[in-house]
Amino acid sequence: MSQKIPSSILKESTSNFHFYILAGLIGGGLLVFVEAIDRLLTLRFPTYLDQVLFVCTLAMAPIGNVFLGSFIAILALKAKFLLLLLNKQLKISTYLQHLLVALSISSPFILLTFFFPTLFADNFQGILTSLSSRGIPFGPIIGYSKFLLSFLIYFFALVIVFLESERFNQIVKGNWVILLFVLMVLIMGVAYYADSRIFVGRYQEMFHIPLALIAILSSFMAGLLIVEQRFNFAPKHIILVIIPAFIFTFAHQSINKHQAMKASFWRRGVVVKNYLILAQRLYDFDGDGFSRFFDGGDYNDKNSTYNPTAIDSPNNNIDENAFGGDFKLPLQNPAEVNQKPIPSASAKNVLFITIDCLRADHLGTYGYAKKLSPNIDALAARSLVFENGYALGTNTGHSFTGIARSNYGEGLFNDEIPTLAELFSQQGYITTTITSPETSKWLQKQGWETYKTVMLKGFQNIVHEEGGNWNSRKLTDHTIEYLQTKEDKPFYLWVHYNDLHAKAEKYHKQDKQDTAKTSMEIYDSNLHFTDKHLGRLFEYLESSGLINNTVIAISADHGEEFNEHGQLFHNGRPYRVQTHVPVILYYPGGGAKRINTPVSTIDFAPTFLRLTGKLPPKSYKGVDLIETALGNISNRLVIMETPRNVPDSNFFAWAIVDKDWRFVYDLVGNTFELYNQKDDPLEQNNLIDKETEKAVELKKKFGIWLDEQTQDKHYRYWQKF
Ligand SMILES: [Zn+2]
Repeated sequence: MSQKIPSSILKESTSNFHFYILAGLIGGGLLVFVEAIDRLLTLRFPTYLDQVLFVCTLAMAPIGNVFLGSFIAILALKAKFLLLLLNKQLKISTYLQHLLVALSISSPFILLTFFFPTLFADNFQGILTSLSSRGIPFGPIIGYSKFLLSFLIYFFALVIVFLESERFNQIVKGNWVILLFVLMVLIMGVAYYADSRIFVGRYQEMFHIPLALIAILSSFMAGLLIVEQRFNFAPKHIILVIIPAFIFTFAHQSINKHQAMKASFWRRGVVVKNYLILAQRLYDFDGDGFSRFFDGGDYNDKNSTYNPTAIDSPNNNIDENAFGGDFKLPLQNPAEVNQKPIPSASAKNVLFITIDCLRADHLGTYGYAKKLSPNIDALAARSLVFENGYALGTNTGHSFTGIARSNYGEGLFNDEIPTLAELFSQQGYITTTITSPETSKWLQKQGWETYKTVMLKGFQNIVHEEGGNWNSRKLTDHTIEYLQTKEDKPFYLWVHYNDLHAKAEKYHKQDKQDTAKTSMEIYDSNLHFTDKHLGRLFEYLESSGLINNTVIAISADHGEEFNEHGQLFHNGRPYRVQTHVPVILYYPGGGAKRINTPVSTIDFAPTFLRLTGKLPPKSYKGVDLIETALGNISNRLVIMETPRNVPDSNFFAWAIVDKDWRFVYDLVGNTFELYNQKDDPLEQNNLIDKETEKAVELKKKFGIWLDEQTQDKHYRYWQKF
C-alpha cells in the first residue's frame, strides 16, 4: 500500500507543477495587458521609446507570477500528497479530509504569523487600523488581527485543496468557465481603474495593496482556468518564461537613461511595482535597505555604510551617499544676512494669518481668473507679494513646525532651537494663537503630537480649547474680540483658518447659498467665504489703528491637489500644487512690490523678528524676506520635505526649487524628476532626461544640502513617526 502512493504522487506532481507555473505565466500576461493599457491611457511619457520601455518593465508580472505559481504548486503538491495519504489510511469523509489537509498546509504560515509578527501580521494590522480610521468599522477586530490573518491563510489553503480535488475538475469542464474568466478580467480592470485614479500615491494600505492582491489573484485564477481548459504543458512553453525575462532585462538595462519613465512607473505602477519591491529586497546583498536591482539607489551593494542615507563626513574625499560629492566645509550660508544690523524697527506687533490648504494660484493677486479674494487682494496691493513662496511640508504639522523653528529636517525637533513664540515671549510680548477647536482636537491624533508640541511652544494663550468647529465667521469674531479686550502690550498673534480643508474626504460648503457643486467649486466657495470674513478683520485693524504698527502676513501650511498628479487633498509628494502657497507681507511703511525670487515659509520667523527690531538666532535657517525683496539674496535653494507622519509608505520625497526649476527626489523609488515651473506650472512634463545639465546641477545642489543635514548630531535620516 505504502509503495503505491509515491509513484502516483510523482506522476501527479510533475503535471501539477507545470500546471501552476503555466497558470502564473498566463495570468502574468493578463496583468501586463491590463496594466499597460490602463497606464498608457493615464500617464504621459516623454517619448515613444519610454512607452515601449514601460511595457517592457511590466514583463516583471509574468516573472513574478512564476514564483507565485511555483509557491502555490508546492502547497498544492503537499495538499495532494496529504489527500492521497488520508484517503488510503483513514476512511473519513471528503469534507473532513479537505479541512484537515488545509490545516496541515497552512500551519507553518499560521505559526509564522504568531511567532514572527513583523513578517506579515504587523502589516495586516496596519491595514485594519487605517481602514478603521477612515470609517470602516474594523475597530473591534483590530486586536484579533493575528487570528483573522490566520483564518485568511487557512481559507487560502482550503481554496488550494479544493482546486486539487476532483470536484473542481468536474466543475471547470462546464462552459461557464468562459463567463468566470470574463468576470475575472472585469474585476482586474475595475481594480486597476480604482487604484490608478483614487488616492494614487497615498494611503497605499487603503487601496493599493488590496487591489493589487485582487488583481494578482484574479489573473492567477484566470490563468488556472485557461490552462485547465485548453493547455497541456509542453517543453516548448518554456519560451513563455524566456520572452518576458528577455524583455524585462532590456528594460532593466535602459532604466538609467529613462528616469522619466521610471518616475512614472514608481508613481503610478500597481502590481508590478510590488513585485519589484519584493525583488529589490531579495537583491539587497549588504542589507542596508537599498539594492542595485532596477536602479534601486545602492551604488555600493557590498558595503552597507554606502547608500543614500549615509552620513557624509566632511573633507574626507569620500562621497558616502553618492549625492553632491564629498561634503566640503565651510559652507556658504544665505541665512547669514539675518545677522546684518537691523534698520530701525518698523512695527510693534505681528499678526500672522494662515489659511489651511490655500493654494497661491487660487488667489486673485496670484492671477486666479475668478477673483474670489477681493479683501486679501486689496491687502496684497499694499504689501510685498512673493510670487514663488513654498511651504516646507505637505501637511499642517510639518509645515507649521518648520515655521515655528525656522528650520528643516532634524532642526524641527531640536529643543535647543527656540520657537518664534518663545522668543517673542522672552521679549515681553503677549503670544496668542487662535484656531478652531476642531483643528486642535484633530492635531492630537496619533503621529501629530510631536508636531503640535513644537507648533504651540511659547504661546501664552491658546484660544481654542472650548467649543466645536469655528468657521471663518466665528474665528474672525473671536479674533476681533480678543484684540479688543487683550492687555495693552505688544503682541504676536497667530490666527489659523480652516474652512478650505476637506473633512472625511469631502469639502463642506460654508456659505449655504452658494451654488458650488464640484470639489474645486466648494473649495473656491470656502475661500471666498474666508476672504469675506478676513475683510471684517482688516476693517477692524484699520479702524483701531493697529494697521499702523502691526506686521500682517498671510500664508498657508500647504497647497491642495485636485488630481494633477493622481492624488487628492495633500500629504503627498512635494509637487508645486501641494506646496506653492501665498507669501504676502504687509508692514507699516513697507510699500508694495512683487518679488520673483523663491522663498520659503520658514523665512517668516526671522522676518518678523527683524521687523520688530530683534536679531534672529543663528540657528534659524530661514532668510529675512526683506533682504530677499531687496535683491540681496542669490544662490538660495528652497527646500520642501515629506512630513514624517505621512500616512503613505509609497514614497519619501524632497523637492528643491532653484529659480524656475523644481527638482524632486524620491528615496523609496530612487526616482528623479525635473520640472520647469514657468512653462509647466502643473508639472506634467518631467524633463529629467532632456535637461541633463540642469538635472546634474540640481542633483549636486540637493546633495550638498542633504550632506549638510547629515552633520546634525540628531541625524537619523528622516525616519517616520
Ligand atoms: Zn493643513
